[in-house]
Amino acid sequence: MGGVSNDSGRDARTGTSGDDALDLSECEREPIHLLGHIQPHGCLLALGADDPGGRITHISANSRTVLGAAPDSLLGRDPDAVLDGPVAALLRSRAAPYLTEEADLTPPPLTELHTLTRQGAALRWAVTAHRSGAHVVIEIEPVPGPAAGGDAGADAGDHADGPGAEGDPPVGPRSGAALHRLEDETVQAVADVTGYDRVMLYMFHPDWSGEVVAETRRPDMAPYLGLRYPASDIPPQALRLFTVNLLRIIGDVAAEPVPVLSKGPGDGEAAESLDLTHSVLRSVSPYHIEYLQNMEVAATLTASVIVDGALWGMIACHHLTPRRITPDVRAAVADLARRLATCIEAQQRRAKAEQRQATERYLTQLRNRLASGEPLPQALLGGTARLWDPLGAEGGMLTVGGSLALVDLCPTVDDTRRALAGIVSQSDAVFLTDRLAGHLEGAGPAVAGLAVAVLSRDPVIAIGVFRPPEEQEVFWAGDPTKPALQEPGRDRISPRRSFAAWKEAHRDRAKPWDEATRDTLEKIARVVRDHLPAADPLATLGPDIESLKTALTSETTQAVGGFAITGEGLALTVEAAEQGGVERVETVNRAFLDVFGETQPGADLAAVMDRIGLPADVGARSREGAFAFEYWSRRRGRRTLQIVGWPVLTIADQAGSRTWRALSFRDITETRRTQETMASARDRAELGARMKTEFLSRIGHDLKTPINAILGFSDMIRLGVGASHVDDKVVEYAGIIHDAGAHLLGMIEELLELSRFQLGSAGPGEQSFDLTHLCRECLDWIKAYPGAAELTLSAQLPAGAVAVQADRIIFARMVLNLLSNAVKFTPAGGTVDLRLRLPTEGGAVVEVADSGIGIPPTSIREIFLPFRRGDGAEVAEREGTGLGLTMVKTMIEAYGGRIEVTSAPGDGSTFSLILPAERCEG
Ligand code: ADP
Repeated sequence: MGGVSNDSGRDARTGTSGDDALDLSECEREPIHLLGHIQPHGCLLALGADDPGGRITHISANSRTVLGAAPDSLLGRDPDAVLDGPVAALLRSRAAPYLTEEADLTPPPLTELHTLTRQGAALRWAVTAHRSGAHVVIEIEPVPGPAAGGDAGADAGDHADGPGAEGDPPVGPRSGAALHRLEDETVQAVADVTGYDRVMLYMFHPDWSGEVVAETRRPDMAPYLGLRYPASDIPPQALRLFTVNLLRIIGDVAAEPVPVLSKGPGDGEAAESLDLTHSVLRSVSPYHIEYLQNMEVAATLTASVIVDGALWGMIACHHLTPRRITPDVRAAVADLARRLATCIEAQQRRAKAEQRQATERYLTQLRNRLASGEPLPQALLGGTARLWDPLGAEGGMLTVGGSLALVDLCPTVDDTRRALAGIVSQSDAVFLTDRLAGHLEGAGPAVAGLAVAVLSRDPVIAIGVFRPPEEQEVFWAGDPTKPALQEPGRDRISPRRSFAAWKEAHRDRAKPWDEATRDTLEKIARVVRDHLPAADPLATLGPDIESLKTALTSETTQAVGGFAITGEGLALTVEAAEQGGVERVETVNRAFLDVFGETQPGADLAAVMDRIGLPADVGARSREGAFAFEYWSRRRGRRTLQIVGWPVLTIADQAGSRTWRALSFRDITETRRTQETMASARDRAELGARMKTEFLSRIGHDLKTPINAILGFSDMIRLGVGASHVDDKVVEYAGIIHDAGAHLLGMIEELLELSRFQLGSAGPGEQSFDLTHLCRECLDWIKAYPGAAELTLSAQLPAGAVAVQADRIIFARMVLNLLSNAVKFTPAGGTVDLRLRLPTEGGAVVEVADSGIGIPPTSIREIFLPFRRGDGAEVAEREGTGLGLTMVKTMIEAYGGRIEVTSAPGDGSTFSLILPAERCEG
């Protein structure tokens, strides 16, 4: 799941407490029991709420570090007797509101910041108190620094009056688009206020599967936006927990949890249990910790978004290094989550009301059309308001006796007939499924959802609508097929693996129908039934199917005219048994003519397709789902057209001897352009990250001057310039200063280059050069690199030139960087091989393979992050800044390509730069 939190809601570590390497010697003599764990950065204690003395019933094992007293000196004691005056007074005052007689009165956890003096030292504590059964739980988190927002050098600052002070919550957004904007703004605001590396908004679908609907992240992190997760990722008890404990923080994923201790009444007797559901410090399940570690996440914050009392979704924040935030920042996040929820609530209400009104409008319209004598098939399936419009479906059907009409997205005639046979034999008048494949063996993949109302069983009269598999509707932010370098071994859980699981679970599945669908379909069925002539429906309806055919083609032409408005061009074909089953064009509408030019009635469809440049089996292909293609129309220029399904209209007459089909095109040129604009808007959202890079660049320049001074003067000391006598030790120290300064300067230079590239000032230039030649040059250059003489360098390059569209210098830098790493990390006697491959599917691949030290699987996802170098002495003894690969990755991705690595310790490594086909000429 979206890296949110599948924290199980109970402490999964309780059972393993015996293995914990904690020093419990202080409590050895006491009958101490472990009851769950907390995160180690704070301390938890509980006071007996029913006990007039308010004695300490539970304490976390780390009490000494925070309270200055060991657990066994506190358990069972009165805080006033065992703690310093100011501390005891603080605990008492925070506990007081929860020690009420009225058992129901249990205010939610409240965090406040307190400053106090203990034994002469000033302390800042975030103290959270809440009632848990017969206990008052108090949690103390020391807050470092007088005004620090987060303890990781965060720039979160003091945000007590941050976003909450911006004014009243905005009035609920009017449209879905406005809501999406608000979602984007919310994650951005949360990122601004907290400084987390990634902030996502995660939404639950009715089946509890999840989707990342908004995201802001550091530019070097892989996008999760658009990824979907199966319901199984979050256990039900965790979902329950999320609705009561609205804000959860893991300050340091790697930190060892601390047990909560309690003293039983006597040896062997059970200690009082303490429910940690509402605890802010509670540690989470090891399973969840592993999940986060797989994503390289070191700290998280999760805020529930509760809409109309139910869990709608979560704001999930991730950080790559440990991070905690102060109570005021926490409150700001909770406030943002609440404000978002208020807007979603308003929007949902409005959408429901609009839906109801639309249904009513449709029913009135249908009644009027039927009353005015419009034939039933036409009134239901033709015109601008069609049966499936108020039902959120994409195609519909009507069957009367043996005749069947299918319009827009629909199964084949045979599949529909088979499905109907099963449905009619059931007792319910309305049949809904979101997985047709489960009911109908061998059904085609285009349709997954089916909602049918049976009006009569003899003769069979039924209406129905269809939905496509949901997977086709998923919008991709990142390329889901792109191998994620950050992914560890196959068997481990991670977002993309979860996404694969979601896809598996949702294969052949449509968006589920809800109760409103059943209700609306029943209402429509009632209207239709009222209009069925009591005497002989077949006599009236049979021939009308023919008139529907005319209605569909002519109406699209007259009523709305062109592609751009209706988005639909039609070609109607007929396949008649007496003509040997050849599919011929019967008629086309004007929109079709507009784009594809003259098409004669009676023409063989295969020949028409050939002229347009479409495969003759386009019908079979489009059954797999809609697909788009580019077409250069003489009248309309370059268009992106989508075949929305074949057939969009199938009419099988009673005898089944003739089948009409209609092929429908939708012009999606504008939509495509809008999508592209949206993508660039997302890029703009990354401006924040860009500003950080700019800042880095400025600081880098400022640092260079003093470092140059350090280098210059340390050199002077070393060389004894201007001094009569210089101690050997001083010379040695000056040498160390000089070397460290030189290393620092190297790092700053590389950092500057990286930020220049990320800023675009050194972006991917366009020029054409020969990649074969460049590889040969790079190999020549690398021969001069220290250590290269002790290695066997070889190259496998194509005989001819490989023309590539890119910046030559940047490309050389990438190849040299990989080559120099290969030389650097390969001990004497080894080999380095440079290869240039041209895969059959297009593009080019530059491979640098070495027989060197290799990279352990644990580091392989880290090496592309800035300043990350491999572990171990073999890496440490070699010079490096850890920026080289970050730079190569940034550069190749700027060209639309990617970098891959395969490696095993001791076996060497192979790095591949993969350049997409559009960058390669010829
Ligand atoms: P640097 O080489 O300056 O340390 P890079 O970003 O170029 O920084 O590489 C990051 C890390 O990746 C290196 O520190 C090393 O651990 C590992 N690495 C890169 N290339 C190789 C290689 N060819 N063989 C083994 N390890 C490598």
